[in-house]
Amino acid sequence: MKQSHLFYKTRKEVPSDADSINASYLIRAGFVEKQMAGAYALLPLGLRVIKRIQNIVRQEMDSIGGQELLMNVLQPKEIYSETGRWEKMEEILYKIQTQNGKELALGPTHEEQVVTLAKGVISSYRDLPKAVYQIQTKFRKEARAKSGLLRGREFIMKDMYSFHDGEEDFEKFYELSKKVYLKIFGRFGLEVKIVEASGGVFSEFSHEFQLLTPQGEDEIYYCNKCDFAQNKEIAQFKAGDKCPNCDGEILVSNGIEVGNIFPLSTTFAEQIGCKYITNEGKEQYPVMGCYGLGITRCLGSVVEIMYDNAKNRMVWPKEVAPFDIHIISLNKNDIADSLYERLGPKFEVLYDDRELSAGQKFAEADLVGCPIRLIVSGKSLEAGGIEVIDMSKNSSTIVPIENIEKILNE
Ligand code: ATP
Ligand code: MG
Repeated sequence: MKQSHLFYKTRKEVPSDADSINASYLIRAGFVEKQMAGAYALLPLGLRVIKRIQNIVRQEMDSIGGQELLMNVLQPKEIYSETGRWEKMEEILYKIQTQNGKELALGPTHEEQVVTLAKGVISSYRDLPKAVYQIQTKFRKEARAKSGLLRGREFIMKDMYSFHDGEEDFEKFYELSKKVYLKIFGRFGLEVKIVEASGGVFSEFSHEFQLLTPQGEDEIYYCNKCDFAQNKEIAQFKAGDKCPNCDGEILVSNGIEVGNIFPLSTTFAEQIGCKYITNEGKEQYPVMGCYGLGITRCLGSVVEIMYDNAKNRMVWPKEVAPFDIHIISLNKNDIADSLYERLGPKFEVLYDDRELSAGQKFAEADLVGCPIRLIVSGKSLEAGGIEVIDMSKNSSTIVPIENIEKILNE
């Protein structure tokens, strides 16, 4: 993509109501625009990152047997009649009406619809296990939308639901999902902790994936030696206590909840009447789990962790960067044009072909945050080629033009 074509504009001023690093950076750098509290538009740069995040999630969900589907944002009141959540989720449900007065909600989560769908698909133990997921915009009437993309009223979530013939098969899948979640967050460049949290009415614990950072709104008690970690909502510790599992010490930190998985047991299946016949010929309800992951919240979280406020610079992790490579031409457009044409089909390339000063181009490149920069200038050509800068290592080398692909593939 030529930068002269890109639908974007950087902003000098930090918007006065941007209450977080992620919102202020993403707006200034031209990745998102704020529509109103809790609702952000994804501009082309922001959407590129979101698509990469989504594709990583898709690959990993598919790798454990998940199948993608897409359920509805519009939910008729009736689908809640068996679970009672039309009333129980009152606080967060956006309720609207059709012209005939039929009541609807904008979907905040999809257990009711997915179990209703499963009812039509699962009738025998031979139909199990099954796991389906979607990546969709969710709506929640959050009392306070805050921290930019971290807590919105309209946000993108991946939600997966699994159905099993018995607890044992469920447990295996649940443990597998933990591993795959850690892999996903690792690919985003995020190191997260698995934290025990309240499981609601369904089971003793759910498991949250928490990014420990002062910017988080949750409070996490965790051991400095082993994997023990609990959310404040269930933890009965204070900092400095002894770990219940080893001789380590309990520390406390804020955290951002980027994912949350729940054992649902057979509760929803019983309520909605989703049954199957077991190998022994008995009627049984499938054991279920649900697996949420905040797609837009992850975009915000990567910024919270990676954005360098002092240098006013972002370096995106390779797998989620809006572009792999940023070609910057300093008055050498004929050579840069041909480099762009060569690399364009092989990599995701942004090419700054604009008539701007070097200072302006570098300041904007710092905001776009591509992990690799190729600088084509009189100076680099005199030195023997193109300057290749690996932004994450802050290392720079001059590479002959014909060797560029080789270096980039390393
Ligand atoms: P929280 O405790 O932060 O309100 P939750 O426990 O209600 O979240 P879940 O129902 O577990 O959220 O949703 C699954 C995932 O969706 C969360 O782990 C989070 O990453 C993301 N998410 C939830 N609510 C929001 C929101 N308002 N804005 C952005 N992402 C959200
Ligand atoms: Mg949660």
